[in-house]
Amino acid sequence: MTDFGIQEALQELGLKAINNGTSTGSHNFSSGELIESYSPVDGKLIGKVKTTTKEDYEKVMEAATKAFLSFRNIPAPQRGEIIRQFGNKLREKKAALGKLVSYEMGKSYQEGLGEVQEMIDICDFAVGLSRQLNGQTIPSERPGHVMREQWHPIGVVGIISAFNFPVAVWAWNTALAWICGDVCVWKGSEKAPLCTVACQNIITEILKENNLPEGISCIINGDYKVGEMMTTDTRIPLISATGSTKMGRIVGATVAQRFGKFLLELGGNNAIIITPTADLKVVVPGAVFGAVGTCGQRCTSTRRLIIHESVYDKVRDAIVGAYKQIKIGNPLDENNHVGPLIDKDAVNTYLAAIEKAKAEGGTILVEGGVLEGKGYESGCYVKPAIIEAENHFEIVQHETFAPILYLMKYSGEVENAIDQQNGVAQGLSSAIMTNELKEAEKFLSYSGSDCGIANVNIGTSGAEIGGAFGGEKETGGGRESGSDAWKVYMRRQTNTVNYSDELPLAQGIKFDL
Ligand code: NAD
Repeated sequence: MTDFGIQEALQELGLKAINNGTSTGSHNFSSGELIESYSPVDGKLIGKVKTTTKEDYEKVMEAATKAFLSFRNIPAPQRGEIIRQFGNKLREKKAALGKLVSYEMGKSYQEGLGEVQEMIDICDFAVGLSRQLNGQTIPSERPGHVMREQWHPIGVVGIISAFNFPVAVWAWNTALAWICGDVCVWKGSEKAPLCTVACQNIITEILKENNLPEGISCIINGDYKVGEMMTTDTRIPLISATGSTKMGRIVGATVAQRFGKFLLELGGNNAIIITPTADLKVVVPGAVFGAVGTCGQRCTSTRRLIIHESVYDKVRDAIVGAYKQIKIGNPLDENNHVGPLIDKDAVNTYLAAIEKAKAEGGTILVEGGVLEGKGYESGCYVKPAIIEAENHFEIVQHETFAPILYLMKYSGEVENAIDQQNGVAQGLSSAIMTNELKEAEKFLSYSGSDCGIANVNIGTSGAEIGGAFGGEKETGGGRESGSDAWKVYMRRQTNTVNYSDELPLAQGIKFDL
């Protein structure tokens, strides 16, 4: 059977084949116990990665803090040149890295390539940004004075990332942080550790070619205990953490306790509102890709469809019909639409959610279940399910990281749908399908969607790097990627300069000596 070029990809990424039992890749100081990485695609062991011990962590921090002192002195546009080279290296390695993402995480090869493309795109964005880290000049109330604002590098940035975007989230953070003059320490997901090492291998090559210190980009490997080394460390002024709300609640509190800054990118519970004028040609692919793409394991995956009662039956039948065409199987085989869940724990969570929805009164429209037999040996392949439910069900209020789509009705005006859409604790992505201008504008207005992302006539899932990405409420409030998200990676300084021969005080205060 073909291995879809996996061994070749591993080799290209500097990861040794596993058959000899050795650990894999460059570890950037890590020397601890081995984490084994099994593919959810076929259940096979892909490789092993060394975890980071306390002593290793100290070496990492020593390298990072030292590298910061020199890296911040390099002019930003020259740092841009390094990122330009990094983007080009990613272009060379796109197929190999996309394949590894697909094999280790389980998303389709196309989505794996898309994830690497996002890394390339953010590099391009960051290169342009390297000449635009602009502050403002502010009029002073005092004669012969000028005020301005400058943005300075913040220091060591700690990045914690989730399994479902095992490479792109790192790049979203690092490309901007490096442009800003920061250095980065990254703890990738323990569920996709080879992706972390592969990325580190790529950037290490670029740093070496440019004679730059390794400490500009460090990785640490392991589970939450390794993450805690960073969240409690006062040498790290900013922690950017992507993952579950449960994790964010702990990380946010820990970092706040030491007055650190944090950028949290947490869970979503994303809905599409489908109005009477919605175009089914747009609704069906938008909703179906949103719900089943990446096997429902995107923070922006569509979890709820809120459908006007007048078109409910038509929309339901179209979506249920489309589910019949979905092919589930090896995500490296481009004929399949849906790959596996990340692991068996995720399968159990998915099964429990379906049972809970039934127990709360939900009606199954498309039956879920675990697939068995040839091609499904990993035990992680499940059938995307559709359940008729109500917004107040406890299970609907929660993010289940799996392909379960809840259908619900609204009646009357669009405000009733917006109330349902906003009636959850999370606030990441949202969408409305309508051809009514007034409905669309209401949805986007201050009394409309309360999410960080609100779309019209496209689904909830996926985003371009040019916009700021993130959400409100339990999604954590952070923004990363495009727009002015770079500002979080810098410290702001306000300057007042007196070029007169007098010393007038602000607010006209008199202080005569
Ligand atoms: P997770 O919360 O289990 O783990 C995420 C990361 O946090 C891992 O690296 C983990 O080791 C680390 N971690 C967990 N507890 C920690 C602690 N106390 N201190 C320090 N580090 C800790 O999430 P997951 O299962 O990997 O990913 C799925 C979740 O991520 C979903 O909820 C999804 O919506 C969310 N997500 C959000 C975004 C976004 O941009 N909003 C993007 C991707 C994923």
